[in-house]
Amino acid sequence: MNTAFLIKYAEIAIKGKNRYLFEDALVQNITRRLKHVDGTFHVRKENGRIYVETEGEYDKEETAEALQQVFGIVGICPVLLVEDEGLDALAGQVIEHLAKEYPKRDFTFKVDARRARKNYPLTSMELNAALGEKILEAFPETKVDVHHPQVRVHVEIRPKINIYSREIPGPGGMPLGTAGKAMLLLSGGIDSPVAGYMIARRGVTVEAVYFHAPPYTSERAKQKVIDLAGKIAVYTGPVRLHIVNFTDIQLAIYEKCPHEELTIIMRRYMMRIAEHFAKENNCLGLVTGESIGQVASQTMQSLAATNEVCTMPVYRPLIAMDKQDIVSIAERIDTYETSIQPYEDCCTIFVAKHPVTKPNAEYIRRSERKLEEVIGQLMEEALTSAEMITVEAE
Ligand code: ATP
Ligand code: MG
Repeated sequence: MNTAFLIKYAEIAIKGKNRYLFEDALVQNITRRLKHVDGTFHVRKENGRIYVETEGEYDKEETAEALQQVFGIVGICPVLLVEDEGLDALAGQVIEHLAKEYPKRDFTFKVDARRARKNYPLTSMELNAALGEKILEAFPETKVDVHHPQVRVHVEIRPKINIYSREIPGPGGMPLGTAGKAMLLLSGGIDSPVAGYMIARRGVTVEAVYFHAPPYTSERAKQKVIDLAGKIAVYTGPVRLHIVNFTDIQLAIYEKCPHEELTIIMRRYMMRIAEHFAKENNCLGLVTGESIGQVASQTMQSLAATNEVCTMPVYRPLIAMDKQDIVSIAERIDTYETSIQPYEDCCTIFVAKHPVTKPNAEYIRRSERKLEEVIGQLMEEALTSAEMITVEAE
């Protein structure tokens, strides 16, 4: 007899010939995530199922929690895998499983037996009836309810018999690494880490770029972004973070361009630089934490003006979300507390009192021409002086 987790995954089951690629990625991601959990785990694929088997001591809650951070998993079922030693032995094991999982024995239940191996001597119906009876005998306070049982006792006859009754919800989504790579513009705010989490949940590998403006922004502000990268790395795997010194570009914009257009012009240069790193690192798109109407630089007109300089698709997972919903996700993925630390952001320092909310792209282009003489050199310097660090999960 041994205990394990049965991993359920849905969406990837429909991917036809690619299915094995998705399953292999999922197995790999589970293995990687469990390296952070004390215990010995074996992850294996068997007949369209993934099992995480455990050896010796391990913390069940902690293991389930780690599995809840692996995209592509829909459900995590603590399962008992037993050899076929006849009906009586099986009934004993089912009862032992229920005794352990449900200390209060007054639940309603239904047995749901299945035979993946058809040579088993009883039919599923016969198994349901026989096991149901044994459970009622063992726990007289329980009742059968075939329509809305509180506990569904799954008994699956496979090479080994699978007994499980509880399904812990997984995060859903697609296994990481199955959808290409994108470059996330990661600031120290609430939104962009959530955007990174959301795009990664679709299987996208995330690399990130952060713009800082020393000495106007501090080491602490930079550290905060590194901390955020570490927080999302729990879900996304190690994050390669490009840190770009944006000070001279910002100062040039500040000096030469109309102040109400500062934010938009600055954002356009951020996008251009992000795109440079994206291309250099085989990314297929950019990702931002923008959401319509949240601030002046996120009206549809502003987004259009920012978007204009990009040749790559820009993914904005939060585009139609309300702030409160974004905050809820940030809390759930544990980035919120870090995001609200009060260190200054490069955008807030150079921000105008009355930024344009409906920028005219033609005006913006005209303003940018005032930078013509210096910007080539400044961009070059920003690109070559950027540092890259790989941030692991905390
Ligand atoms: P966030 O909470 O993600 O900082 P925000 O609501 O503060 O977003 P803005 O400051 O307008 O919005 O930034 C919009 C998006 O631009 C951010 O979500 C992020 O993707 C990107 N961005 C802004 N500032 C930076 C920065 N310093 N470095 C990298 N990306 C940035
Ligand atoms: Mg911000």
